[in-house]
Amino acid sequence: MTCLLDPGIRVSEIFGPTIQGEGMLIGLPTVFVRTGGCDYRCSWCDSLYAVDSRFRHEWETMSTEAVWQKVRALSGGRSVMVSLSGGNPAIQPLGALIECGHGEGYRFALETQGSVAKDWFANLDVLVLSPKPPSSEMTTDWAAFDACVEAAQDKPQMALKLVVFDDRDYAYAKDAAARYPQLPVYLQPGNHTPPRPGDEDAFIDMDGVMKRMEWLVEKVTRDRWFEARVLPQLHVLLWGNKRGV
Ligand code: SF4
Repeated sequence: MTCLLDPGIRVSEIFGPTIQGEGMLIGLPTVFVRTGGCDYRCSWCDSLYAVDSRFRHEWETMSTEAVWQKVRALSGGRSVMVSLSGGNPAIQPLGALIECGHGEGYRFALETQGSVAKDWFANLDVLVLSPKPPSSEMTTDWAAFDACVEAAQDKPQMALKLVVFDDRDYAYAKDAAARYPQLPVYLQPGNHTPPRPGDEDAFIDMDGVMKRMEWLVEKVTRDRWFEARVLPQLHVLLWGNKRGV
């Protein structure tokens, strides 16, 4: 299949298949296309190498066709879930890639903080909106977030995914869930020891992360918040801070 010419996609890395490590597709074999660049700078970002322009030299602007061929090669030509992540993948032109893949039976999930809406969100199979809580030191623009929800036109499966570090984050998660009662909610304990770029074996305080997980489970059950699902990051449990798995 030939894709139309396009301005190119800024790619940080393409890897897989591996399993999706978090959220509603957890455990599902997936090929990841991680784009470069983000309009946020979360204090605990675990993929700074795909965010900070200091790592721009590691990014490559690839044609849609080249990205698609890489995904195809990694999956051996068998249709698989493709996760579009970042950075913020919503700032890249990914509509043509989704069309290419759909033509061969591939499915596409995109995760974004919900700051930039694109009309091609409606062509996704899965849209995970992950607004960033106070501990990120970012401020949510709810009008922009609403625009993302509207752009999807109820076509993809959608979910809210919220990282929680503390009580303030938990209160924010509850507010976000109340705003979008139609969306399933996934809560995830934050990793307070995210990797530094280039340090594959960076220390991870797994005990601390799991304690936070227990705290979160207790909090949700004590609160009788029975609609929320609490999940760890599976790839962190398996591989710590390792990149590209
Ligand atoms: S939105 Fe995501 S990729 Fe961007 S800085 Fe925050 S955690 Fe990192």
